[in-house]
Amino acid sequence: MNRRDCLKLTALPLVAQRQENAVETEIVRLNLRHTWTTTMSSSEFRETLHLGFRSQGTTGRGEGAPIVRYKESAQTAQKAVQSVAGYLKTADPWKFSKVLGEVFRRIDGEWAAKAAIDIALMDWVGQKLDVPLYRYFGLDPRDAPVTTFSIGMDKPDVVRQKIREAEQFPVLKIKVGLDSDEEMLASVRAATKKPLRVDANEGWKSREEAVRKINWLESQGVEFIEQPMPASMIGDIRWVRSKVHIPIIADEACLHPRDIPELATAYDGVNVKIDKCGGMLEAFRMIQIARSLGLKVMLGCMVSSSVAVTAAAHLSPLADYADLDGNLLISNDPHTGVLVEKGKLILPNRPGLGLLPAKGGV
Ligand code: MG
Repeated sequence: MNRRDCLKLTALPLVAQRQENAVETEIVRLNLRHTWTTTMSSSEFRETLHLGFRSQGTTGRGEGAPIVRYKESAQTAQKAVQSVAGYLKTADPWKFSKVLGEVFRRIDGEWAAKAAIDIALMDWVGQKLDVPLYRYFGLDPRDAPVTTFSIGMDKPDVVRQKIREAEQFPVLKIKVGLDSDEEMLASVRAATKKPLRVDANEGWKSREEAVRKINWLESQGVEFIEQPMPASMIGDIRWVRSKVHIPIIADEACLHPRDIPELATAYDGVNVKIDKCGGMLEAFRMIQIARSLGLKVMLGCMVSSSVAVTAAAHLSPLADYADLDGNLLISNDPHTGVLVEKGKLILPNRPGLGLLPAKGGV
């Protein structure tokens, strides 16, 4: 055998090992059970980006829910993933921290796209290690909290129907932030005595209005208020906080780890969402930073399927409050993952995210 033939033969196994990973994206339209109204929008459906990452015979699944407020759409998220698909196809998923660092460096913004990639890689890693992701993060699934169920703004009779549908949830989340807040809460209180958590989605523009409404909400059995005023008005939030008793949680003001130290001077807690920060690893970092600053931690989600909600749920044993109902608000979830029993999150004990195809799913 000459030297050239010998090199060819020894190179063959190496070529076989370097088989490319597969990266597939799909924009999925998720139909809402009820028209969803907040201070920002009103809609019948949401589109999220789904991602399949296949390597070494295993497929990890990810999902990112683009947030309009940050000028993201499912289409821009898909383009962002496509821009790094070539890199992902040759990347080693066992080096997932390094890979995600490179993805974050290459993609400007587009946090839902980053979240989809992060979740798919973490699902892949969990499956390969044969452990559920909560175990990978060293968590006890029995510590998973109850999740609130969100009641969107609506007419009183529809609000009553939504509250009946939310019978198994011990705590409800109410969206306010419009002139009709009192009316909305009155129709909720006429139907239930359950503890309420309230999200104003930056709806109140003056600090006096915020103080008046928060103190009134406290008298109505509200546990805490989320983002009462615009994210940029941190000085006003600080003033409001000195005039009210219930905790104030930052949501729209809290996107990334670097935001948290300043927020600790004005808020009592932060709402961490994987779609805002770009995935599970970044969310885990945010939770650690928030804890180190003495903040309460809430884990939230966007309207999305069980892929993204289950990813957040695997971190939920670290949270004081969970608002992980995004998959329960849709009628065509392609997967099942985290379940809810009497409001408590039940984490799947299967490897990775632990997803299964939904019965009769799409
Ligand atoms: Mg919120």
